[in-house]
Amino acid sequence: MNGVFHSFKALAASPDSTAASLPDCTVVWFALMGTAILGLVSTWFFRRRYVHATRMLQEQEDEVRLAKQRLELALEGANLGLWDWDTITNDLYIDERWAAILGYTRDEIPPHVSSWTKLLHPDDIARVERKLNDHLKHPEKSYFTEQRLRKKNGEWKWILDTGRVVGVDDEGNSVRVTGVIMDIDRIKKTQFHLEKLASSDPLTGVYNRRYFFSRLNEHFALLKRNNRSPLAVQCSVAILDIDFFKKINDTMGHIAGDYVLKNFSKTLHDSMRLYDVLARYGGEEFVILFLDCDKTTALSILERIRDKNIATKYSFSDSSIEVRFSAGLSAFSDFEVFPDSVDELIALADDRLYLAKEGGRDRIMYESPVKEKTTTLSADERPQILSYPCLLDRLETHLDMIRRRESAVETNCGSLGMIGFWVESDSPTDVRRKMRETIQQILRESALAALQPFEIAGEDENGNLVCIFPLSDASTAQAELGRIISLSRPIASAACGDNADIEFSRTSIGLDCGDVLSLNAHAILLQAEQTLAGVPEDEDVAS
Ligand code: GH3
Ligand code: MG
Ligand code: MG
Repeated sequence: MNGVFHSFKALAASPDSTAASLPDCTVVWFALMGTAILGLVSTWFFRRRYVHATRMLQEQEDEVRLAKQRLELALEGANLGLWDWDTITNDLYIDERWAAILGYTRDEIPPHVSSWTKLLHPDDIARVERKLNDHLKHPEKSYFTEQRLRKKNGEWKWILDTGRVVGVDDEGNSVRVTGVIMDIDRIKKTQFHLEKLASSDPLTGVYNRRYFFSRLNEHFALLKRNNRSPLAVQCSVAILDIDFFKKINDTMGHIAGDYVLKNFSKTLHDSMRLYDVLARYGGEEFVILFLDCDKTTALSILERIRDKNIATKYSFSDSSIEVRFSAGLSAFSDFEVFPDSVDELIALADDRLYLAKEGGRDRIMYESPVKEKTTTLSADERPQILSYPCLLDRLETHLDMIRRRESAVETNCGSLGMIGFWVESDSPTDVRRKMRETIQQILRESALAALQPFEIAGEDENGNLVCIFPLSDASTAQAELGRIISLSRPIASAACGDNADIEFSRTSIGLDCGDVLSLNAHAILLQAEQTLAGVPEDEDVAS
């Protein structure tokens, strides 16, 4: 500074300098001083700004560090695993805790979204994907799912996954999603345990009656809302009751009875489809709700259960216990109009169970007109002898049901019976025709009195009485026909007088698999008629 000052002074004192050509030294001096001061001030000012900015930055960094620390502590405290997904590249960042929740270290899980999908339970994939895609399209909607992920040791762990879109591109597409997973395995398992306790039967472990009705009512409400015709609804209910169960208790003790209940329910459970609902209805009664299942399919499942039950050995204290059951099956298709409540469906199954017990037990009852629930039927409600076309129709329906069974072979497909008669008399033709009509009427009355409500009677084109026995084999049907004839014969003889000789003949055909697959209803009736025509008087024919 001094040097500069002296040079200026020297310049000012120079002999050949003039006041006009040289700047005023004082001005120069002040200019220089001013510049220097300005430099000093601005240095000071910028230094201050710099210090301030640095302090601000430091504070911000501290804040970020603190926020990160807090987040870290919160994630750690709540045991949450962090994830960050780039939806364009499908890169997936996960933190150490995410991996640790499943027993992995972070570097054992490749940082790609496919790693997650591979760990996801197969049953959860579709649901989780749907919810996630929904959130990507509508980020305003929250995303959270409960899902199962496979742990390193192969077990499944329930986790709660929540997240949200945190980045969108210029076109508004979601490009980045961040979230956390939380271990909810224990909560979930406790919840399942409590639900199971509330909905299951403690002895057998199958569902209880309360759960069964809640499911049935739920399904019923859905069906009703859809307002479909009952015929189009595929839902059936079966009530099963162990035959002579009390005898097991009485002869072998209550513990043996409990053993049978437990093992019988296991037989039922193991033979059912996953989505059907099996419950203990009470005592030795069980109920099954066949969802999405028409009566024919439900029947074939029940038959499978029956076969499996017969094949199962129930051994208790070195004794083998034979367990058989009776069942009543009902379906929405049994109703002409939609029932008012599920009670009607249950009552119909119960009625049929009663019929099965009445009919000798160890059988499945699946038919009976709904009207039969009324004990006093008005004249026009009484069962009718079906006309030929209606009979053909009913037989075809029955055949169709058999054809659709899973195991028609070796299961009882029912049978068809036919009764014919001849009148020998010297009387004029018109009298003989009157006699025929009288006998025909007597046969009808006898059939209505002798047949079970679920059995069907009609007449063919030749006036023969035709009966469909859905549960009886050919020889049992033959015996039933014999009963009808024995009821008719004395009344017919009395009505036609001594000069008439009346002969009855009967035949029955077992509707086993081979026949029903190759013949239609008409052909089966024709076969029965031919057999009848070739039968010597009153001879039994059962095929
Ligand atoms: P049916 O063929 O007509 O059904 O006769 P059943 O003997 O099976 O029926 P019944 O209703 O006469 O008897 C049922 C018995 O079941 C009476 C009851 O003591 C017994 N029971 C009900 N619940 C249990 C149970 O939890 N354990 C045992 N061991 N027995 C039970
Ligand atoms: Mg009972
Ligand atoms: Mg019983």
